[in-house]
Formats: sequence, structure tokens, C-alpha cells
Amino acid sequence: MIKGTIYIVSSPSGCGKTTIIRNFLKKHKNFYFSISHTTRPKRQKEENGKDYFFVSKEEFENMINNNQFLEWAIVHNEYYGTSKEMVLNKVENGIDVILDIDVQGAQKIKKNPDLKNYDIVSIFIFPPSYKELKKRILKRGQDTEESIKIRLKNAYIELKNYNLYDYIIVNEILNKAIYDFETIINANSLKKSKQEYKLKKILNSWEGR
Ligand code: 5GP
Repeated sequence: MIKGTIYIVSSPSGCGKTTIIRNFLKKHKNFYFSISHTTRPKRQKEENGKDYFFVSKEEFENMINNNQFLEWAIVHNEYYGTSKEMVLNKVENGIDVILDIDVQGAQKIKKNPDLKNYDIVSIFIFPPSYKELKKRILKRGQDTEESIKIRLKNAYIELKNYNLYDYIIVNEILNKAIYDFETIINANSLKKSKQEYKLKKILNSWEGR
């Protein structure tokens, strides 16, 4: 069985990452979108178990101690982490997984020795400018003034790490960004390592002739 790919998708908040991923998943049902655990408060429209698993600091720290995370990080002063069990189970069964994680998490995944033999593709989503990002975060109306300030400051720090990623999408026009996202994933699925099973089957059809 060919293992699934781990797609890491990062961007500062407000760059359209969630919208791009959701649009992609609507069309491509055979992907698994990893739901992270976090200690940050639930936003109004969010659901536990759908957007995140919202847990207490104590629960999160217990999970760290029990080695239940593939990676975890502190983002905007809150814990965020990717559960090991779910992701590895899917990938081992040939299912491609999408991780929406920050730059620290992306680095941890890439450096994780347990993941050395996995196909990992990282995608970074850029906003078109500072002004546009601020406008988008304000329009979203989900964050306090203090949290907006922190997010914009952290955005710049995150954006400067684009070199750590394989692919960059500048989200200026949403439909184009969604198309770019699909293009990256389609191209990766055509890698010979992802098609070995199929290719062997084709070659086998020559046998006995
Ligand atoms: P938000 O609070 O806006 O949903 O997410 C804030 C940031 O946390 C985003 O950059 C998001 O990618 C990141 N994030 C979400 N889940 C995880 C995770 O499991 N691990 C890491 N390292 N970052 C995460």
C-alpha cells in the first residue's frame, strides 16, 4: 500500500487558508483534514470536534506527557497540537492528510524522525499586503483588539519563514488561490512514488505474453 501524503498548510490567520482548504475538501472527499487540539477559547461559530477539539490547559499538558502529539506549539499564547494517532492511522492506510498548522509545527513535522519515510509537502499561503491582511482580519470581526495586534505582529514573523516551505500561494484572488492549491496537490499525486502500485499493475499486464 502506498502511504498517503501529509500536506502541511500554513499562513498567518486571515490569509484565507481555511477558506481555501474547505473549498478544496468540498470537491475532494477522499482527503482527511486533521482536527487539532487547542486551549484557545472557542469562537462564536465554531464547534467542538469540527473546528478544533477545545481542551483545558491541563488536558493538553497531559496529552503532551503521554506523547499523543505528532507536533504541538504555543501560538498566540495558546497551545495547539496535532494528534498522532489519527494522522498516522490515515496516512498508513493510504489516505492523504491535510494539516493546518503554524510555522513551528511545520518545522517539527519535517524534523520528526518518525516521519522520515513519509511524503510531506508544505504549502504556505501569503496575503497580498499588510493593508489587505489587516482589512480581512477586521472584517472577520472574531478577534479582540488586543488579539488583532498580536496576530498582525506575528504575521510578519511567520511570513519571513516562507523559505521553509515547498510551495507558496499568494492569495490575492480567492478562486485563483484555490486553483493553485489544487494544482499543487494534483501535481504531487502524479509523482512516480505515488503511482508505483498502478504502474506495476500496468507492467504486470505484459507478463505471460
Ligand atoms: P486560529 O486560532 O486562528 O484557529 O489558529 C491560529 C494558528 O494556529 C494558525 O496559524 C493555525 O495554523 C495554527 N494551528 C492550528 N492548529 C495547529 C496545530 O495543531 N499545531 C500547530 N503547530 N499550529 C496549529
